[in-house]
Formats: sequence, structure tokens, C-alpha cells
Amino acid sequence: MTAAGTNKRILVTGAGGFIGHHLVKYLKEKGYWVRGVDKKLPEYEPSAADEFEVLDLRKFDNCLQATRGGIEEVYGLAAEMGGIGFIEHNKAVIMRDSVLMNTHMLEASRLSGVKRYLFTSSACIYPGYLQKNTDVTPLKEEDAYPADAEDGYGWEKLFTERMARHYREDYGLETRIVRFHNIFGPLGTYDGGREKSPAAMCRKIALVEDGGEIEIWGDGEQTRSYCFVDDTVEGIHRLMRSDYAEPLNLGQDRMITINELADMVARAAGKTIRKRHNLSAPQGVRGRNSDNTKLREVLGWEPRISLEDGLRQTYAWIYGELAKQPEKYSVKPPVPLGAGGGDLPSANGQKSRTKASRA
Ligand code: NAD
Repeated sequence: MTAAGTNKRILVTGAGGFIGHHLVKYLKEKGYWVRGVDKKLPEYEPSAADEFEVLDLRKFDNCLQATRGGIEEVYGLAAEMGGIGFIEHNKAVIMRDSVLMNTHMLEASRLSGVKRYLFTSSACIYPGYLQKNTDVTPLKEEDAYPADAEDGYGWEKLFTERMARHYREDYGLETRIVRFHNIFGPLGTYDGGREKSPAAMCRKIALVEDGGEIEIWGDGEQTRSYCFVDDTVEGIHRLMRSDYAEPLNLGQDRMITINELADMVARAAGKTIRKRHNLSAPQGVRGRNSDNTKLREVLGWEPRISLEDGLRQTYAWIYGELAKQPEKYSVKPPVPLGAGGGDLPSANGQKSRTKASRA
């Protein structure tokens, strides 16, 4: 265990969700005292938090309760969110709930004497007019304005970015702002409509026969970059520790098409697949990639887990989860190495940090 944390008291909101759950584990291994808060418990394994409270953070009194007792730093990950299908069809819920949560959490943090507050923004704040082509120029932090964010979800993120900045300028609350670019990994939602493209692809390929057909949303030529969750939690901890208060991208800058993503997952699965393109399904912006120049400059670090390695771990975990539900799902062989709970060997021969202890 490193001594970085030395019992500092930390609050993680959204600790029952995908990134928040991983972050709690990471901070515990760093030696912090951690309170996790969410409206639900983590779905796939118990939280590593010292305290976990189920609270609806749209209510101000609950935000005061969450920040009580000498909390020094808050990682704000609670949000209403999901994949492109969810965010295109739930704009009012997303804006209302996340504005309430973020506004009340910033104010409660100020009143409770919190020193630092990290807000998790998104690449969805970047203007649509810069993302119309598949060979898009990677997005730099200063590209955010003039604003033309993703309707609903992106506008709420941009609004809260500015509110975080004003809490720093007007009240001295040290705010940090990270813009995630498509985070993926084990222990994330893989069905039910809120799953993101890597998880959806893993589920579809786990359920198809070798040589079978899967549905791809759009023509599959839309481009994205993907960042593994272990890199993500390390990156936001580094940002919290830094003195950099402006918004910062956190993602990989390796851009691939959705068709290539499907082929990579198929390789991880050891299957050949055929693709059926559904041109009426939602597909989001045409192209998106992260410019990591500022990230490297500010943190002297950038994500390093390869997409192939991350997808192998994610596929094995999702396959294992589906295989536990034979009444609902019928997985098709081959069974990937590591499905069903064993530690997964990664490309460099080390065990996955997600499954194995990092201490
Ligand atoms: P997630 O949906 O898994 O986690 C969000 C958590 O917030 C959920 O567990 C949910 O229950 C909780 N929440 C929602 N409403 C709540 C309420 N009223 N009270 C208390 N808790 C509530 O999402 P995630 O992928 O872990 O995302 C974490 C953060 O990162 C979010 O701010 C999200 O917008 C941002 N982000 C994620 C990605 C990504 O690719 N995963 C990309 C860009 C930005």
C-alpha cells in the first residue's frame, strides 16, 4: 500500500456505479478513508468503502449528510447517464436530476468545509460542428466554445463545469474538472439499455454462434476512442492531486470505428462474426477522439492499458456474468480465459488490476 492517502477522508458519489465503484477500490488501496454514496448499492460485488450510504443526492439534506464529518475531498461521479440510446431518449431526466445533484453537492461541500471537489464531465460537451466527420481532428480542451454540446446530457455537463469554476473563484473551493472519453471495463452495465458500446458489443458477441450475425448501430464507420477503467481511476486521482483547475480530457487518443471495435471484440472472443447495420438506430456524433496534449503536459502521464488488453478483460467478465443467467441468456463457446471469476492474465503477463489486488 502506498502512503498517499494516510487516512484522509474522501467522499465518492456514484459509488454504486461503474467508475465510482472502481475508484473506491483504488482509493482504499491508496490508504484513504472512503465514504461511498449512491442511490443504489454496487450490482456486481460489495463496495470496498469504509462506509456506504444509500442516499438520493437530488435532495439537499442528503448532500449535507453525505459531506458531514470532516470530508476533505469529494469525487463527484453521481449522474443520470447511459449509452447513446439512453441519453437521446431521456434528456429531461438527465438534465433535471444531474443539475439538482451537482448543484446541491457543490453547495453542501462548501458548507461542510470540503477542500477539493472533482467534477466528472464528458467529451459530450464538445461541439457537434467539430464532430461531423469520421476522420475528426482530436478534440482539445479549448474547443468547447462556442458551445454546441450534446443536447441534454452534454449541456448539463457544460453548465456544471462552469458552476464548479465559479465555486472555486467565488468561494475558494478547489474544483477539478475531468472530461472522460468513453470509459469501459469489467463491472459495468452490459444490458438493460444503459450500456455503452464496448459492453453492448461484448454481450452481443458472447451470445452469437461462431460465424453468426450481430447488429451494429449505424453504418459502423462512426469513430471513437476508448479508455480502460483502471487508467481512468488512476488519472482522476492524479488530477485531484494536481494544482490544475481547468477542464482536462481523460481518454485514449487511439481512434477506431465501431466496425473495428466489433472485430476486436470478436478476436478477443475467438469468433468470426458478420455485421448487420441498423441505419435507424441512434449513433451519436460521426467522429470523436481525445487530444491528450494537455493531459500529458499537466499530469506527466497518460492512459497506457491497450484497447486489446482492456477488451479481453471486459469480454471475459461479461461472458462470465451472462453465463451465470442461463434462464435469460445463452452464451456460445468458446469460453474465454478468465470468465467465471479467475484472475485474468493481461498482455504484459501481469494479472488484471481489476480482478487482482493492487496493493
Ligand atoms: P454509472 O451510471 O455507472 O454511475 C453513476 C451513478 O450515479 C449510478 O450508480 C447511479 O445510481 C448514481 N445516481 C444517479 N442518480 C442518483 C441520485 N439521485 N442519487 C444518488 N446517486 C445517483 O456511470 P459511470 O459510467 O460510472 O459514470 C460516472 C461519471 O462519469 C458520471 O458523471 C458520468 O456522466 C461520467 N462519464 C462517464 C463516461 C463513461 O464512459 N462511463 C463518459 C463520460 C462521462
